[in-house]
Amino acid sequence: MARYTGAVCRICRREGQKLFFKGDRCYTEKCPVVGGKDKVAAPGQHGLGRKKMSEYGIQLREKQKTRKYYGVLEKQFANYFEIANKMPGITGDNLLILLESRLDNVVYRSGFAMSRPEARQLVTHGHFTVNGKKVNIPSYQVKPGDVIALKEKSRGSEKFKTVIEANGSRVTPQWLDVNRDTIETKVIRLANREDIDLLVEEHYIVELYSKN
Ligand code: SF4
Repeated sequence: MARYTGAVCRICRREGQKLFFKGDRCYTEKCPVVGGKDKVAAPGQHGLGRKKMSEYGIQLREKQKTRKYYGVLEKQFANYFEIANKMPGITGDNLLILLESRLDNVVYRSGFAMSRPEARQLVTHGHFTVNGKKVNIPSYQVKPGDVIALKEKSRGSEKFKTVIEANGSRVTPQWLDVNRDTIETKVIRLANREDIDLLVEEHYIVELYSKN
């Protein structure tokens, strides 16, 4: 399946919650998702009139929402699940922690990009280093102690100054030590479930994959 590049606001409307694909706009009144789940119409003519979902439908929606939130393809997502399932601990927690540890997510969480899609693009274009070495793989898994930094050549860019200024009020996760002056982030520890603010019931995802 190709990466989804269509009208991303439709995805948020379908899921009934903000998934923050469009940077600044997501924090303004222009965002069509303004309230809780019940206030949001799914896209299309019959948005609010949809039937009650089956158990399978709920499982599928929770999976799709999480997958799209992190910008991951179906196959990759299934691979994450396999890894999470083999790890000690709770599979649903492990899955979210693996996704949260992606390099593109860390760049976004640090406030160095306006959205996850933008973070992904910046990583792919080689703007960031990990422990001093260029890493252009968005799925790179960060580890405690890693230092993610904007590469030297990109530091003078007005674009990054603007982005970092615009994200100045964004709350930094406790597992990251972000220095906005030097545009670098140290991973203090991996995220835990409580650090992850996506509204998802991950046990539905586990149930979905456990059937297969
Ligand atoms: Fe669109 Fe962002 Fe609002 Fe989602 S959160 S509906 S991407 S503006």
